[in-house]
Amino acid sequence: MLDPEVETRPWDEQVALDDASYRAQLAYLFERSAFYREKLSAAGFASAEAAGGLADIAQLPLTEKGEIRATCTPDNSIGAHLCATPSEIVRIYSTSGTTGAPSYVPLTAGDLENWVAGSARSYAASGVAAGQRIVSTYNAGPFVAGAALAAFERIGLCHIPVGTGNTERLMAALELLGPEAVVLTPSYAAYLVEWAAERKVDLRGSSVERVLVAGEPGGGEPAYRAKLEEGWGAKVSEAMGIGDVGVSLWGECEEQDGMHLGARGFVHAELIDPETRAALELDDGATGELVLTHLQQRAAPLLRFRTRDHVQVRTSRCNCGRTGPRVRCIGRTDDMLIVRGVNVFPSAIREVVSAFAPEVSGHILVKPQAAGVKQEPPLPVSVELARGATADAALAEAIREKLRNVLVVQTRVELVPWGSLQRSEYKSKLVEH
Ligand SMILES: [Zn+2]
Repeated sequence: MLDPEVETRPWDEQVALDDASYRAQLAYLFERSAFYREKLSAAGFASAEAAGGLADIAQLPLTEKGEIRATCTPDNSIGAHLCATPSEIVRIYSTSGTTGAPSYVPLTAGDLENWVAGSARSYAASGVAAGQRIVSTYNAGPFVAGAALAAFERIGLCHIPVGTGNTERLMAALELLGPEAVVLTPSYAAYLVEWAAERKVDLRGSSVERVLVAGEPGGGEPAYRAKLEEGWGAKVSEAMGIGDVGVSLWGECEEQDGMHLGARGFVHAELIDPETRAALELDDGATGELVLTHLQQRAAPLLRFRTRDHVQVRTSRCNCGRTGPRVRCIGRTDDMLIVRGVNVFPSAIREVVSAFAPEVSGHILVKPQAAGVKQEPPLPVSVELARGATADAALAEAIREKLRNVLVVQTRVELVPWGSLQRSEYKSKLVEH
């Protein structure tokens, strides 16, 4: 454990510390953030005192990414939530906006230090330790993933960056440098398993003992994880962050039972129902959209920021000794479909389908028939067969039946030949838009 005193602190003590940080953060927002001064005043909170403490946070309005973006002007390209002066800002990241213009994420030196500290705790939870070697496949460039790379040095790892989409270089590094760990997206980890199988490369025989996955859902899904662990002959654990709030905020420990909040003390986590926006208790098994609030951010803090990540909560005691609620990522709220009132995540469909290995490859594509979130059943799903397998009506029926039983959704399963669905060396598209 990188920071045992912090990571094993009783959770009620953490919440008390967080409450004090939160009140100070609110005072800072009222003093420095034009965006939040206006937003909170409009909601009836004229001062930090009126907004109360963490116990009252659900009364405050949520923050949507689009709201911030709408405040960008030629004079302030970051947005009205910017609190720091130019001389205080030491770095500006961009988030890979799927909707055109990038959003900028400025950090003060203190913000950056907190990001790296939290990220290092999250990645160290996986069991990687000082003195080991880790190969990274992120093209960090302008993106917040760059701060995660600093976390590897903080842990004391020897970091070997090879970048994205350069499989030959990655395989050479595995063979010649003998790293104990790799960090990549789950899609790329799966792609490499297939790549190695096709070339009779012995991935299981490599030096890699730990595969750290982040960037999209998948690493925490049991069947998908099992496929990766089998292919790599290594332990798979996942990490998760959100560009606007912090990099690798959460990280899974060796118990593999949900991600711990490595960024504890720096961010406060809440759960909401994405449709009604109502706050939900962080009870064991609860699912909902993750909402995050900065507790010690200076450059451009966010309050009750909607992450669009849909998670399930675990509150049971973890054998590793870390305290606090854990989460498992189920999918992106943006990918969620509603089929006759039932919420369906494409990654959950993939998880159910993956259990039909070795008859299927594990690749799926959901093909919504209508624009928007609401869909009429049956929902069409293409399921790719394993190499050499032939389409079999009984298999399609069994998959359809299992999806109906597990996810309560009516689907139309089409089996497609091996290799017909697109592979990704970065993040997989599970829905055809
Ligand atoms: Zn644990």
